[in-house]
Amino acid sequence: MSLHARAVRHALRMLGAVMIGVVLVLTVDRLYGHSTIAFAAAIVLLLIANAPMLRFNCPDCGKNAFFRGMFVVPWPNRICTRCGRDLSQTHSQNR
Ligand SMILES: [Zn+2]
Repeated sequence: MSLHARAVRHALRMLGAVMIGVVLVLTVDRLYGHSTIAFAAAIVLLLIANAPMLRFNCPDCGKNAFFRGMFVVPWPNRICTRCGRDLSQTHSQNR
C-alpha cells in the first residue's frame, strides 16, 4: 500500500475519531450539563489518535505528507510539497 493510501486511511480514521469526540461531548453535555472535563478528555483522545500522523513522511526528503509549508492539513498531499515525489506511487516504510 502506498504512503498516500495509508495517509488517507489515517485521515478517515481521524474523521471518525473527531465524530466520536463530538458525540461524547454532546452526550455528556445532555446528561450531566456542560462539562469541561469531557471536552478535555475528547481533546486528549484526538491528540493520541492523531499521533501516527507524524510517521507519514516522504522517503526522499522526510517531509510530512500532512504538512503544506508550515501548516498542518487534515488531508494528506499526494505529491510531496518539498521534493515533488509522487507519494501515491511510494511504498511506505512503516508498518
Ligand atoms: Zn519529499
